[in-house]
Amino acid sequence: MRSRRPHAVIVGGSIAALGATLALTRTGFRVTCVERDRAAMPADHLAAWDAWRRTGAGQTRHSHVLLAPLNNLIKAHAPEFHALLIASGAAELRFSDVAHSTFEDPQLVAEDADIAFLACRRVVFEYLLRRYMLEQGGFEYLHGARVMGLAIRDGCAAGVTVRSADGERTLDADVVIDASGSHTRADDWFERAGLDAVRIERHPCGIFYTSRFYRLRDGADYPTLDGRQSLAGGVQGIDLGYLKAGLFRSDNRTFSLTLAADPEDAPMAAIGREASFDAAAKAIGVSADWVDSERSEPISKVYLYGNLENTRRHYLVDGHPALRNFFAIGDAHVHTNPIAGRGCALAWVSAFALAHALADHQDADDRAGAFEATIERDVVPWYEVQAQQDRQSLAVNKALQRGEDPFDFHNADGTVDERKRRGVVFRKGLRHAARSDIDVMRALFRQVNLLDSPASFLERSDLIGKVVAGYEAARDEELRARPYRDEMLALFEAAEASA
Ligand SMILES: Cc1cc2nc3c(=O)[nH]c(=O)nc-3n(C[C@H](O)[C@H](O)[C@H](O)COP(=O)(O)OP(=O)(O)OC[C@H]3O[C@@H](n4cnc5c(N)ncnc54)[C@H](O)[C@@H]3O)c2cc1C
Repeated sequence: MRSRRPHAVIVGGSIAALGATLALTRTGFRVTCVERDRAAMPADHLAAWDAWRRTGAGQTRHSHVLLAPLNNLIKAHAPEFHALLIASGAAELRFSDVAHSTFEDPQLVAEDADIAFLACRRVVFEYLLRRYMLEQGGFEYLHGARVMGLAIRDGCAAGVTVRSADGERTLDADVVIDASGSHTRADDWFERAGLDAVRIERHPCGIFYTSRFYRLRDGADYPTLDGRQSLAGGVQGIDLGYLKAGLFRSDNRTFSLTLAADPEDAPMAAIGREASFDAAAKAIGVSADWVDSERSEPISKVYLYGNLENTRRHYLVDGHPALRNFFAIGDAHVHTNPIAGRGCALAWVSAFALAHALADHQDADDRAGAFEATIERDVVPWYEVQAQQDRQSLAVNKALQRGEDPFDFHNADGTVDERKRRGVVFRKGLRHAARSDIDVMRALFRQVNLLDSPASFLERSDLIGKVVAGYEAARDEELRARPYRDEMLALFEAAEASA
């Protein structure tokens, strides 16, 4: 007699859900994705930019960079999808290209091939992913269906209740996977089922987000920076302290600019309005060249996203699952500040970790233990380091708002604050060394791409030595970048007055 295939119901039908579907269908699971958005898919990925309404994922039209783990998992498990992405206008931005445009004769190593991220608008990527998966078949995709709660039998998750235009019904499952994003209602589902409350950790990201998209004009190309074609043509960031700016090359000659500021810095709310956003874009050295009207034209309004928090939900209690056969992946489990662009890559890391745990173990407790152990190793360190970096960024930001120099490491009595001084040495030194030393640049790229642990850089004394030497060479460079906050506020005022 043939054994019945186990059934996994996935709440959500976005990046994490489809990654898990890809992984699980290959390990013998029958999968049903339940996605609340009902919008039909437009004819193609380019039409998706204009017409695909993804209200369930409010970040759909914000800047996205897709880091190496996602790129590498796609290449390993769905090479045809990778080829489709590239044929559809996405670009693979490789460390090796950056190294060639930076150094005369860069000494590359085999592992450098792993360091590449994908440049693609999120809506285009998600459209192509969903279409590819639907064409592959082998699973069910319900859209316009919202998960309202959990079905629980003998203390185990046994399905979900789903509401759609046809009414409410229960979908039975052997495994329930929450991939419903950072606004998951799993906390309510647990409460209503009389389960112990889900323990949630939250740390403010200290920013709200704005994004605007642009298209290169005919004949124009992405700008270069210091003669480096691919780095400048990829992702670039600048931190003004009170404002973070990120440029993201995307598919089909598009790119986006994100500006992010402290939600408590009231005058900075202006970046949500086109006049001030544009004024900032033109005033910041790095972005001015990109948004120059001879080079590019806007193809969107300014999109806003607020209430950002690094969030982690705990589903193991004293080493045991809070609810057997229930798992959370992607943002529903661990959500990190989008400014570092890690969410989609970590969503797939967690999706594949779950598929492995389910394939390798049959016992519910063993499965939960194995899954959470991988999350603890591969995902949580990024959450923790982000929460710490956000605290530091906020301190810099608040000092600037008070009109202080956050990089002055002298105490009021003239003595040196050692901790602060080390921070300045690291910032200045790293900036310089990453431009001039391929080992430092590689280590930085690997870390930004989640290929080495957050702690790995500080564990290498050779790199620290190079950073310190970089500091000596760049001692006189100013860390505070122009325009300063008061200059920027004056620009906002002028822009709004003439809007
Ligand atoms: C402003 C912003 C910028 C970002 N930039 C980047 C970036 O540069 N790079 C990067 O990798 N990541 C970035 N991220 C993070 C990234 O978007 C997420 O990590 C990624 O989308 C996670 O995917 P997910 O599938 O877990 O959740 P989501 O993509 O949020 O999807 C959740 C899905 O679940 C559905 N859903 C919700 N509730 C229910 C329900 N009850 N029943 C049925 N369906 C439901 C929703 O409709 C949605 O489709 C950014 C995030 C934000 C907010």
